[in-house]
Amino acid sequence: MLTSEQVDVQRLARDFADQEIAPRAAAWDRERGFDRAVLDELAALGFMGMLVPERYDGLGLDVPTYVVALEEIARGDASLALAVAIQNGPVPHLLLEHGTEEQRRRWLPRLASGEVVAGFALSEEGAGSDASALATTAAEEDGGWTLTGSKRWVTNGGAAGLVVVFARTGGGGGGDREERREGEAHGRLARPAIGAFLVETAAQGYRVGEREATMGHRASETVSVHLEGVRVGPDMLLGDPAGGLGQALGALDLGRIGIGAQAVGIAQAAMEHATAYACERRQFGRPLARFGAVRAKLAAMAARIAASRALVMDVARRWKAGPHSRARAARSAMAKLVASETAAWVTDQAVHVLGGYGYMREFPVERLMRDAKGTEIFEGTSEIMRLVIGRSMTERRIAGAT
Ligand SMILES: Cc1cc2nc3c(=O)[nH]c(=O)nc-3n(C[C@H](O)[C@H](O)[C@H](O)COP(=O)(O)OP(=O)(O)OC[C@H]3O[C@@H](n4cnc5c(N)ncnc54)[C@H](O)[C@@H]3O)c2cc1C
Repeated sequence: MLTSEQVDVQRLARDFADQEIAPRAAAWDRERGFDRAVLDELAALGFMGMLVPERYDGLGLDVPTYVVALEEIARGDASLALAVAIQNGPVPHLLLEHGTEEQRRRWLPRLASGEVVAGFALSEEGAGSDASALATTAAEEDGGWTLTGSKRWVTNGGAAGLVVVFARTGGGGGGDREERREGEAHGRLARPAIGAFLVETAAQGYRVGEREATMGHRASETVSVHLEGVRVGPDMLLGDPAGGLGQALGALDLGRIGIGAQAVGIAQAAMEHATAYACERRQFGRPLARFGAVRAKLAAMAARIAASRALVMDVARRWKAGPHSRARAARSAMAKLVASETAAWVTDQAVHVLGGYGYMREFPVERLMRDAKGTEIFEGTSEIMRLVIGRSMTERRIAGAT
């Protein structure tokens, strides 16, 4: 059951998505970009700073209300929703959890107003699922830091004004206490010390590289970023210079709930298109929806979407701010895993319900199918989600038994 505030936010987001987003989604996909103006329109509604507290000019929504809005935006267009998810989720989370009051005051109002678009740069060519393998370095010099290396697949890349860059600040000694204790107990090498840095994209030496040609989320800008000796002041380091990996994982705990909501929105859109089509299209003298096999597909879609939405909402309601924990990570991983695999399944079924037309670019379901696949990969693949969930169920027990 939604609160009255959630119903209001849902209506606002749904109306905007129906009127301003969904009608343009196919063109954005073809042209590989959405208009920057739509971000300003979202900002005017408060949707660029949903989790930013009101004292920093945000809407100050809670996580459940945020996922209600994000689902509606994704129902309109998944690429736009991905941009909105990065802007609202991991980046403000890092500032709120680890930033100084000065950093928060400087950046949060600019994110919430849409003046500054945010990016999150963790992945690298050799460091995807294993983010601790990242090779970008941050050398402490003259009271500041010099960042050198390359990042891959940075969403919002070219448009971003501020990117949180994760970089090695030293050798071992990183990770939280629990991770270090567990690593030592298993004779593993200590996690590298990684720091999180606020990098203005206008900084000298920050270069946006190639834009990826992606299967789905084609309107979202996914770029490489090259850091060629970028100098940042000490005020651009977020928290502990050796705690960045834990910070990134904590931000992903929130990000993954957002991807879950995004996946539910994609699946919902596909189901709506398939249902409308099945009621209109006639074969053998009757609407497709009158065939039991087709109706059963629609019913299974509806049931799986409802289950995913309920899980994402439950995880959102149980969200606890504060440091990354295994239990919180497992809950977020479940939301992302179930919702993204549901979206992949539902969109596949929707393409099938439309038959040959489902395979054509002129109908939206093929785009939704391409978009759904991305939700199983970014912010951690389904295998990594299973790993995170399984580890939280077993690792402590195994450690106790050895
Ligand atoms: C559209 C898009 C946008 C993105 N945006 C961003 C962004 O804004 N910022 C950012 O930092 N990154 C971003 N990424 C990167 C994304 O998070 C990574 O692609 C993802 O984490 C997987 O890493 P990888 O591609 O290196 O795959 P790999 O880690 O090489 O994995 C390849 C395969 O091996 C499997 N695998 C790996 N390790 C294990 C294991 N231990 N057990 C079982 N299976 C395993 C994986 O599940 C996968 O199937 C984006 C990616 C895409 C596609």
